[in-house]
Amino acid sequence: MVLDLKRDKKLHVGQLKDGSVERFSFVISQEAWNLKLLASNVTVSLMIVKRGTRIRVKGKLKFKLQLECYRCGEPFTTDNEESFDLLFFVEHPSFYGRSKELTMEDFRVLPYNGDEIDLWQVLRETIILAIPTKPLCKPDCKGLCPICGVNWNLTTCEHQPSSTSE
Ligand SMILES: [Zn+2]
Ligand SMILES: [Zn+2]
Repeated sequence: MVLDLKRDKKLHVGQLKDGSVERFSFVISQEAWNLKLLASNVTVSLMIVKRGTRIRVKGKLKFKLQLECYRCGEPFTTDNEESFDLLFFVEHPSFYGRSKELTMEDFRVLPYNGDEIDLWQVLRETIILAIPTKPLCKPDCKGLCPICGVNWNLTTCEHQPSSTSE
């Protein structure tokens, strides 16, 4: 089996036929990820293409994140749809020396051992990279009053800058 999520969450690409294209679609439960900010199950769609020893793994993940606005502190949920497109080459000393020939703008090129690809790591990384460092509940969040602490999205106070120059 090329993909056995229950067992080891790896892609056993050594078993794929040359030139083959495999598609997978599955859901991994929220609990399995052990990621605090993840607020839903994760729907994964994958396309795997093998050409010689090169493996292209294209994927799309759908999930929700539970975040806290860094300006006003209000919790909010996002709907995420993240894609990745990776090209795996068998790890070989000459790989790095030849890397100039292998420049491909659309792919991230990664080495693998010729037999299996750690899919779990790829998927996890995709979710983690989608977590913003400064989440905003909305692009124009007004934040909290630094003096009395009211939420300027909901109300006003006498400390609010009166300038309307923007
Ligand atoms: Zn906010
Ligand atoms: Zn105030």
